[in-house]
Amino acid sequence: MSEFKKYKVFIGDKFVDFADANLSVASSAVLYGLSVYTVFPVNKTEKGLAAFRLKDHFKRLQESSHIIGIDKFNDQWTYEEFTKKVKELIELNNVEEDVFIRASVHVDEILPGTRSRNLSTVLSMFIYPNTSIVPRDGCRLKTSLWRRVPDTSIPARAKVNGAYVNSVLAKQDAIDSGYDDCIFLDHNGHVSESSAANVFIVRNSTLITPDKSSDLLEGINRKTVLEIARNLGIKVEKRLVDLTELYVADEVFLCGTSAYISPVFEVDSRKVGTGEHRITTKIQEAYLEATHSSDSKFLEYL
Ligand code: PMP
Repeated sequence: MSEFKKYKVFIGDKFVDFADANLSVASSAVLYGLSVYTVFPVNKTEKGLAAFRLKDHFKRLQESSHIIGIDKFNDQWTYEEFTKKVKELIELNNVEEDVFIRASVHVDEILPGTRSRNLSTVLSMFIYPNTSIVPRDGCRLKTSLWRRVPDTSIPARAKVNGAYVNSVLAKQDAIDSGYDDCIFLDHNGHVSESSAANVFIVRNSTLITPDKSSDLLEGINRKTVLEIARNLGIKVEKRLVDLTELYVADEVFLCGTSAYISPVFEVDSRKVGTGEHRITTKIQEAYLEATHSSDSKFLEYL
């Protein structure tokens, strides 16, 4: 697992050894979790390595920075410059396998107090193994006793490091209780998402996912799944979802870069449907093609 430490890391304006890619203990990133980030896959295709939906990942990084007020990143980086650094990172490290890259914008200003605007920022990118955060052949979820941070407190729409304490609390609670991951409810009691993945259910052949106002991260794979479903002629609904709809759903699955498309077999000690994941399997297959095949319908995303 520590094998990835062999890879050079991009930080600031240079590529350095893993051990040298550090931030000060007195930086806002460390003191307040003031960094925004994204994780994207780089996969092997017939025509070489390809990042999936890099433009969307960069846009979300910009939007997260904009929401939090980390304005210098958006002034300093364009998509073209960002892509160039991603390519250099991959080439420099002779990557030959499927990997994840975590790109973060850190506020590295020393002791500025609790503010965000007009502070020094640094972009970092490191490569690490593409291991899934849940078992990909089926997982068990527990409704969390912790609620999802509301848009009015720390917006889940912004992928900000500090907010992940919310995810850590919920995931650890689920693990402590013998489950693989959690289901977060929002403050109105509707289903939001998992600790680090979006959630979908299937009822009567309709694919349903909580809408964007349920305090969730606007997942890039959520968007991909919705596009795949429409392409396959599957009816789609984005709306409020009650917890008990998960209990009576025919299928439930999680989706996200690090969760892939993973079927859910159990929620709060209740088996999901018959255990057969017919629509989930179709979406899994199309997703694999979209992320790995240079002859997919979604080629523009590679
Ligand atoms: N929700 C949360 C809270 C996440 O951390 C992630 C992972 N980035 C997702 C959803 C899925 O997002 P994506 O599809 O962009 O990886």
